[in-house]
Amino acid sequence: MNVIDEHAQYGASSIPAGDLWFGEYYAPDVRFALQCQPVAQERSPYQQIDFYRNPTFGIFFTLNGYVQVTSKDEFIYHDMIVHPAMAVNPDIRRVLIIGGGDGGTAREVSRYPGIEKIDMVEIDEAVIRLCRRFLPQTAAVFDREPRLTLTIGDGVDFVAKAADGAYDLLLVDSTDPVGPGEGLFTAAFYQDCYRILSPKGIMINQQEGAFYPQDIWEMQRAHKKVSAIFPVSKLYGFNMPTYASGYWYFGFASKGLDPLQDHHADQWRRLGLKTKYYNADIHRASFALPNYVLDVLGQA
Ligand code: SAM
Repeated sequence: MNVIDEHAQYGASSIPAGDLWFGEYYAPDVRFALQCQPVAQERSPYQQIDFYRNPTFGIFFTLNGYVQVTSKDEFIYHDMIVHPAMAVNPDIRRVLIIGGGDGGTAREVSRYPGIEKIDMVEIDEAVIRLCRRFLPQTAAVFDREPRLTLTIGDGVDFVAKAADGAYDLLLVDSTDPVGPGEGLFTAAFYQDCYRILSPKGIMINQQEGAFYPQDIWEMQRAHKKVSAIFPVSKLYGFNMPTYASGYWYFGFASKGLDPLQDHHADQWRRLGLKTKYYNADIHRASFALPNYVLDVLGQA
Protein backbone atom coordinates (compact mmCIF):
# COMPACT_ATOMS: atom_id res chain seq x y z
CA MET A 1 0.00 0.00 0.00
CA ASN A 2 1.25 3.45 -0.84
CA VAL A 3 1.21 5.87 2.02
CA ILE A 4 1.67 9.35 3.23
CA ASP A 5 3.51 9.43 6.50
CA GLU A 6 5.84 11.26 8.78
CA HIS A 7 9.46 10.31 8.76
CA ALA A 8 12.14 11.61 10.98
CA GLN A 9 14.73 9.09 9.91
CA TYR A 10 14.82 9.63 6.14
CA GLY A 11 18.15 10.36 4.56
CA ALA A 12 20.47 13.05 5.73
CA SER A 13 20.14 15.61 8.47
CA SER A 14 18.82 18.19 5.99
CA ILE A 15 15.37 16.64 6.40
CA PRO A 16 13.88 17.81 9.66
CA ALA A 17 11.89 15.48 11.90
CA GLY A 18 8.15 15.54 11.33
CA ASP A 19 8.28 16.26 7.58
CA LEU A 20 5.50 14.75 5.52
CA TRP A 21 6.40 12.19 2.85
CA PHE A 22 4.44 10.52 0.11
CA GLY A 23 5.77 7.03 -0.55
CA GLU A 24 5.02 4.63 -3.40
CA TYR A 25 6.03 1.02 -3.09
CA TYR A 26 7.66 -0.49 -6.19
CA ALA A 27 8.15 -3.82 -4.44
CA PRO A 28 7.39 -4.90 -0.86
CA ASP A 29 10.89 -3.75 0.15
CA VAL A 30 11.40 -0.82 -2.23
CA ARG A 31 9.79 2.57 -1.86
CA PHE A 32 10.10 5.84 -3.78
CA ALA A 33 9.38 8.83 -1.58
CA LEU A 34 8.71 12.51 -2.17
CA GLN A 35 8.65 15.09 0.56
CA CYS A 36 5.29 16.77 0.18
CA GLN A 37 2.73 19.32 1.25
CA PRO A 38 -0.86 18.18 0.76
CA VAL A 39 -2.77 20.43 -1.68
CA ALA A 40 -6.14 18.70 -2.21
CA GLN A 41 -7.80 15.37 -1.60
CA GLU A 42 -10.97 13.86 -3.00
CA ARG A 43 -12.56 10.45 -3.02
CA SER A 44 -14.39 10.12 -6.35
CA PRO A 45 -16.69 7.20 -7.21
CA TYR A 46 -13.71 5.68 -9.05
CA GLN A 47 -10.57 6.42 -7.08
CA GLN A 48 -8.76 8.31 -4.34
CA ILE A 49 -7.25 11.50 -5.80
CA ASP A 50 -4.50 13.38 -3.96
CA PHE A 51 -2.63 16.49 -5.02
CA TYR A 52 0.64 17.45 -3.35
CA ARG A 53 3.47 19.90 -3.79
CA ASN A 54 7.15 18.92 -3.73
CA PRO A 55 9.97 21.46 -4.05
CA THR A 56 11.74 19.55 -6.85
CA PHE A 57 8.81 18.02 -8.74
CA GLY A 58 6.27 20.82 -8.24
CA ILE A 59 2.59 19.93 -8.11
CA PHE A 60 1.99 16.21 -8.46
CA PHE A 61 -1.06 14.01 -8.11
CA THR A 62 -1.69 10.40 -7.31
CA LEU A 63 -4.61 8.07 -8.03
CA ASN A 64 -5.11 5.35 -5.44
CA GLY A 65 -1.63 6.16 -4.17
CA TYR A 66 0.20 5.87 -7.51
CA VAL A 67 1.99 8.89 -8.97
CA GLN A 68 0.34 9.98 -12.22
CA VAL A 69 1.74 13.33 -13.23
CA THR A 70 4.29 15.73 -11.81
CA SER A 71 4.89 19.25 -13.12
CA LYS A 72 8.58 18.52 -13.53
CA ASP A 73 8.66 15.37 -15.64
CA GLU A 74 5.25 15.22 -17.35
CA PHE A 75 6.79 16.58 -20.56
CA ILE A 76 8.62 13.29 -21.09
CA TYR A 77 5.53 11.11 -20.85
CA HIS A 78 3.40 13.45 -22.94
CA ASP A 79 6.02 13.95 -25.65
CA MET A 80 6.43 10.22 -25.95
CA ILE A 81 2.77 9.23 -25.98
CA VAL A 82 2.02 11.61 -28.87
CA HIS A 83 4.95 12.54 -31.11
CA PRO A 84 6.30 9.14 -32.25
CA ALA A 85 2.95 8.19 -33.81
CA MET A 86 2.58 11.64 -35.40
CA ALA A 87 6.02 11.26 -37.00
CA VAL A 88 5.07 7.86 -38.41
CA ASN A 89 1.75 8.94 -39.92
CA PRO A 90 1.79 12.69 -40.63
CA ASP A 91 -1.73 12.35 -42.13
CA ILE A 92 -3.37 11.71 -38.76
CA ARG A 93 -6.52 13.83 -38.59
CA ARG A 94 -8.91 12.16 -36.10
CA VAL A 95 -7.61 11.33 -32.62
CA LEU A 96 -9.23 9.55 -29.69
CA ILE A 97 -7.68 9.89 -26.23
CA ILE A 98 -8.86 7.41 -23.62
CA GLY A 99 -8.21 8.51 -20.03
CA GLY A 100 -5.68 11.34 -19.93
CA GLY A 101 -7.72 13.44 -17.48
CA ASP A 102 -4.77 15.68 -16.66
CA GLY A 103 -4.85 17.06 -20.22
CA GLY A 104 -1.16 16.61 -21.05
CA THR A 105 -1.80 14.26 -23.94
CA ALA A 106 -4.51 16.50 -25.40
CA ARG A 107 -2.14 19.46 -25.05
CA GLU A 108 0.53 17.78 -27.18
CA VAL A 109 -1.98 16.56 -29.79
CA SER A 110 -3.43 20.07 -30.03
CA ARG A 111 -0.08 21.41 -31.25
CA TYR A 112 -0.61 19.82 -34.68
CA PRO A 113 -2.42 22.15 -37.07
CA GLY A 114 -3.45 19.21 -39.31
CA ILE A 115 -5.51 17.50 -36.60
CA GLU A 116 -9.22 17.96 -37.30
CA LYS A 117 -10.80 16.46 -34.21
CA ILE A 118 -9.71 15.30 -30.80
CA ASP A 119 -12.22 13.17 -28.92
CA MET A 120 -11.38 12.37 -25.34
CA VAL A 121 -13.17 10.02 -22.97
CA GLU A 122 -12.24 10.16 -19.30
CA ILE A 123 -14.14 8.20 -16.69
CA ASP A 124 -13.60 10.54 -13.77
CA GLU A 125 -14.71 14.18 -14.00
CA ALA A 126 -13.00 14.86 -10.66
CA VAL A 127 -9.56 14.31 -12.21
CA ILE A 128 -10.30 16.90 -14.89
CA ARG A 129 -11.82 19.36 -12.44
CA LEU A 130 -8.90 19.14 -10.01
CA CYS A 131 -6.28 19.31 -12.77
CA ARG A 132 -7.96 22.42 -14.18
CA ARG A 133 -7.57 24.01 -10.77
CA PHE A 134 -4.16 22.75 -9.65
CA LEU A 135 -2.35 21.65 -12.82
CA PRO A 136 -3.12 24.21 -15.57
CA GLN A 137 0.25 23.36 -17.12
CA THR A 138 -1.45 20.29 -18.57
CA ALA A 139 -5.17 21.02 -18.14
CA ALA A 140 -5.41 24.51 -19.69
CA VAL A 141 -5.99 22.78 -23.04
CA PHE A 142 -9.54 21.90 -21.96
CA ASP A 143 -10.47 25.58 -21.95
CA ARG A 144 -8.78 26.67 -25.15
CA GLU A 145 -8.98 23.86 -27.73
CA PRO A 146 -12.04 24.06 -30.02
CA ARG A 147 -11.25 20.75 -31.77
CA LEU A 148 -11.51 18.88 -28.45
CA THR A 149 -14.73 17.10 -27.45
CA LEU A 150 -14.66 15.78 -23.92
CA THR A 151 -16.90 12.88 -22.87
CA ILE A 152 -17.13 11.77 -19.26
CA GLY A 153 -17.55 8.02 -19.49
CA ASP A 154 -15.92 4.63 -19.68
CA GLY A 155 -13.41 4.29 -22.51
CA VAL A 156 -14.34 0.64 -22.91
CA ASP A 157 -17.99 1.49 -23.69
CA PHE A 158 -17.02 4.44 -25.87
CA VAL A 159 -14.77 2.32 -28.05
CA ALA A 160 -17.34 -0.49 -28.26
CA LYS A 161 -19.88 1.99 -29.67
CA ALA A 162 -17.56 3.88 -32.03
CA ALA A 163 -17.85 3.35 -35.79
CA ASP A 164 -15.43 1.18 -37.77
CA GLY A 165 -12.40 3.16 -38.98
CA ALA A 166 -13.47 6.29 -37.09
CA TYR A 167 -9.98 7.29 -35.88
CA ASP A 168 -6.44 7.55 -37.20
CA LEU A 169 -4.84 7.55 -33.74
CA LEU A 170 -5.88 6.06 -30.40
CA LEU A 171 -3.95 7.17 -27.34
CA VAL A 172 -4.74 5.00 -24.34
CA ASP A 173 -3.51 7.25 -21.54
CA SER A 174 -4.76 5.05 -18.74
CA THR A 175 -4.02 4.27 -15.16
CA ASP A 176 -2.47 0.91 -14.34
CA PRO A 177 -4.61 -2.20 -14.92
CA VAL A 178 -6.42 -1.95 -11.59
CA GLY A 179 -9.76 -0.34 -10.73
CA PRO A 180 -11.40 1.60 -13.60
CA GLY A 181 -8.32 1.12 -15.79
CA GLU A 182 -8.61 -2.66 -15.81
CA GLY A 183 -10.96 -2.82 -18.81
CA LEU A 184 -8.44 -0.87 -20.88
CA PHE A 185 -6.05 -3.82 -20.76
CA THR A 186 -8.39 -6.53 -22.07
CA ALA A 187 -8.35 -8.35 -25.42
CA ALA A 188 -11.97 -7.28 -26.08
CA PHE A 189 -10.97 -3.64 -25.70
CA TYR A 190 -7.97 -4.01 -28.03
CA GLN A 191 -10.22 -5.74 -30.60
CA ASP A 192 -12.49 -2.71 -30.60
CA CYS A 193 -9.49 -0.41 -30.87
CA TYR A 194 -8.37 -2.30 -33.96
CA ARG A 195 -11.84 -2.10 -35.46
CA ILE A 196 -12.27 1.66 -35.00
CA LEU A 197 -8.85 2.51 -36.47
CA SER A 198 -8.45 3.55 -40.11
CA PRO A 199 -6.16 1.40 -42.34
CA LYS A 200 -3.16 3.62 -41.51
CA GLY A 201 -4.27 3.85 -37.87
CA ILE A 202 -1.99 3.63 -34.84
CA MET A 203 -2.71 2.76 -31.21
CA ILE A 204 -0.38 3.83 -28.42
CA ASN A 205 -1.00 2.36 -24.98
CA GLN A 206 0.73 2.05 -21.64
CA GLN A 207 2.70 -1.16 -21.37
CA GLU A 208 4.21 -0.55 -17.94
CA GLY A 209 7.80 -1.25 -16.85
CA ALA A 210 10.12 -4.22 -17.19
CA PHE A 211 12.00 -4.13 -13.91
CA TYR A 212 9.80 -4.97 -10.91
CA PRO A 213 7.81 -8.23 -10.85
CA GLN A 214 4.33 -6.68 -10.83
CA ASP A 215 5.17 -4.39 -13.77
CA ILE A 216 6.80 -7.24 -15.71
CA TRP A 217 3.68 -9.35 -15.34
CA GLU A 218 1.48 -6.50 -16.56
CA MET A 219 3.80 -5.74 -19.48
CA GLN A 220 3.75 -9.36 -20.59
CA ARG A 221 -0.02 -9.58 -20.36
CA ALA A 222 -0.64 -6.36 -22.27
CA HIS A 223 1.93 -7.03 -24.96
CA LYS A 224 0.71 -10.56 -25.59
CA LYS A 225 -2.87 -9.40 -26.06
CA VAL A 226 -2.02 -6.47 -28.34
CA SER A 227 0.36 -8.62 -30.44
CA ALA A 228 -2.36 -11.21 -30.99
CA ILE A 229 -4.58 -8.56 -32.60
CA PHE A 230 -2.34 -6.04 -34.35
CA PRO A 231 0.06 -7.11 -37.14
CA VAL A 232 2.58 -4.52 -35.93
CA SER A 233 3.11 -4.43 -32.16
CA LYS A 234 6.31 -2.93 -30.75
CA LEU A 235 7.43 -1.46 -27.46
CA TYR A 236 9.31 1.77 -26.99
CA GLY A 237 10.78 3.15 -23.81
CA PHE A 238 11.47 6.46 -22.17
CA ASN A 239 13.15 7.73 -19.08
CA MET A 240 10.48 8.65 -16.52
CA PRO A 241 11.97 9.74 -13.19
CA THR A 242 8.79 9.30 -11.11
CA TYR A 243 7.65 5.92 -12.45
CA ALA A 244 8.94 2.61 -11.10
CA SER A 245 12.60 2.05 -12.03
CA GLY A 246 12.73 5.40 -13.85
CA TYR A 247 12.04 3.77 -17.20
CA TRP A 248 8.63 3.11 -18.73
CA TYR A 249 7.17 1.73 -21.95
CA PHE A 250 4.44 2.48 -24.44
CA GLY A 251 3.14 0.02 -26.98
CA PHE A 252 3.04 1.05 -30.65
CA ALA A 253 0.47 -1.02 -32.53
CA SER A 254 -0.77 -0.56 -36.07
CA LYS A 255 -2.45 -2.27 -38.99
CA GLY A 256 0.73 -2.04 -41.03
CA LEU A 257 2.80 1.09 -40.41
CA ASP A 258 6.17 0.35 -38.89
CA PRO A 259 7.57 2.84 -36.36
CA LEU A 260 11.05 2.78 -37.90
CA GLN A 261 10.55 1.99 -41.59
CA ASP A 262 7.71 4.52 -41.85
CA HIS A 263 9.35 7.17 -39.70
CA HIS A 264 8.94 10.55 -41.49
CA ALA A 265 11.64 12.37 -39.55
CA ASP A 266 12.10 15.24 -42.03
CA GLN A 267 8.40 15.87 -42.44
CA TRP A 268 7.98 15.97 -38.66
CA ARG A 269 10.94 18.31 -38.28
CA ARG A 270 9.46 20.71 -40.82
CA LEU A 271 6.47 21.22 -38.51
CA GLY A 272 8.88 23.15 -36.29
CA LEU A 273 7.43 21.87 -33.01
CA LYS A 274 9.67 22.58 -30.04
CA THR A 275 9.94 19.54 -27.77
CA LYS A 276 11.94 19.02 -24.63
CA TYR A 277 12.39 15.24 -24.84
CA TYR A 278 11.34 13.91 -28.24
CA ASN A 279 13.49 14.21 -31.38
CA ALA A 280 14.29 12.02 -34.39
CA ASP A 281 17.21 10.26 -32.67
CA ILE A 282 15.12 9.54 -29.58
CA HIS A 283 12.40 8.17 -31.86
CA ARG A 284 14.76 5.58 -33.32
CA ALA A 285 16.56 4.86 -30.06
CA SER A 286 13.41 4.38 -28.01
CA PHE A 287 12.49 1.27 -30.03
CA ALA A 288 15.83 -0.40 -29.21
CA LEU A 289 15.14 -2.67 -26.25
CA PRO A 290 17.70 -3.88 -23.71
CA ASN A 291 18.24 -7.63 -23.56
CA TYR A 292 16.46 -8.02 -20.22
CA VAL A 293 13.35 -6.41 -21.75
CA LEU A 294 13.55 -8.65 -24.82
CA ASP A 295 13.75 -11.50 -22.36
CA VAL A 296 10.61 -10.32 -20.55
CA LEU A 297 8.84 -10.26 -23.94
CA GLY A 298 10.16 -13.69 -24.91
CA GLN A 299 12.12 -12.16 -27.83
CA ALA A 300 15.69 -12.66 -26.56
N1 SAM B 1 0.13 9.61 -17.06
C1 SAM B 1 -0.53 8.90 -16.07
C2 SAM B 1 0.06 7.61 -15.62
O1 SAM B 1 0.09 6.67 -16.41
O2 SAM B 1 0.42 7.50 -14.48
C3 SAM B 1 -1.97 8.63 -16.28
C4 SAM B 1 -2.74 9.53 -17.09
S1 SAM B 1 -4.36 9.90 -16.67
C5 SAM B 1 -4.37 10.63 -15.13
C6 SAM B 1 -5.15 8.34 -16.45
C7 SAM B 1 -6.65 8.51 -16.44
O3 SAM B 1 -7.30 7.35 -16.92
C8 SAM B 1 -7.24 8.79 -15.07
O4 SAM B 1 -7.65 10.12 -14.97
C9 SAM B 1 -8.40 7.80 -14.95
O5 SAM B 1 -9.56 8.35 -14.36
C10 SAM B 1 -8.62 7.42 -16.41
N2 SAM B 1 -9.27 6.15 -16.62
C11 SAM B 1 -9.07 4.98 -15.95
N3 SAM B 1 -9.88 4.04 -16.41
C12 SAM B 1 -10.62 4.59 -17.41
C13 SAM B 1 -11.63 4.11 -18.26
N4 SAM B 1 -12.06 2.84 -18.18
N5 SAM B 1 -12.16 4.95 -19.16
C14 SAM B 1 -11.74 6.24 -19.26
N6 SAM B 1 -10.79 6.75 -18.47
C15 SAM B 1 -10.23 5.95 -17.55
